Amino acid sequence: MRILLVEDEPEMASVLRTALGQRDMVIDHVGTLAEGEEAITTGVHGAVLLDRNLPDGDGLDLLPRIRVRKLAAPVIILSARGDIEERVQGLDTGADDYLAKPFVIDELLARMRAVLRRSPELAPDLLRLGRFEFDWRNRSASVGGSTLDLPRRELLVLESLLRRHGRAVQRATLEEAVYGFDDEIQSNALDMHISRLRRRLSNAGAELEIHGIRGIGYLLKPGA
Ligand code: CA
Repeated sequence: MRILLVEDEPEMASVLRTALGQRDMVIDHVGTLAEGEEAITTGVHGAVLLDRNLPDGDGLDLLPRIRVRKLAAPVIILSARGDIEERVQGLDTGADDYLAKPFVIDELLARMRAVLRRSPELAPDLLRLGRFEFDWRNRSASVGGSTLDLPRRELLVLESLLRRHGRAVQRATLEEAVYGFDDEIQSNALDMHISRLRRRLSNAGAELEIHGIRGIGYLLKPGA
């Protein structure tokens, strides 16, 4: 999943990038309100982590703009401004949660799990396609009860396909799910991940097929 981080402190951004990266999340980091607004319009993020004291204004000003665009991504405010009044203001403005700095990463992760559970895109927690199961809570795939070990990028591709299983997923959508804004995308990298993923699923006995659709992208559906 791709997470948008709007945060002007490089140290905080680097800590979050490392911590979330280890949990197979891709962070797109921007440092200003204006960049945050631009990044949000891409609509590719599963969640937004938003600082308040930004060089060009209060992060809270972004919230109405997110809602106006009807983006489903939950927003968690991460701010040194942690008084009760400020938290209430943040939640009333439309944030899904508010975490005062300093915070412990484990608490942030727990709160992210909580807001993502409420996000309709990810419900229900368990997706079952024949012998294959995917648990959105801990992002683990299994076949006939045995866990499938997937490298990070293959997991991100699989998640993106599963979220829209039975429908064609555009190539650009899959590439966006896997790469952050800063990563260079090699033209055949996605096809390589897909081909490895197919082999892994087939070796594990998952009855899933990933079809290439010329000029569009890929489609995952239950198969033989
Ligand atoms: Ca700040």
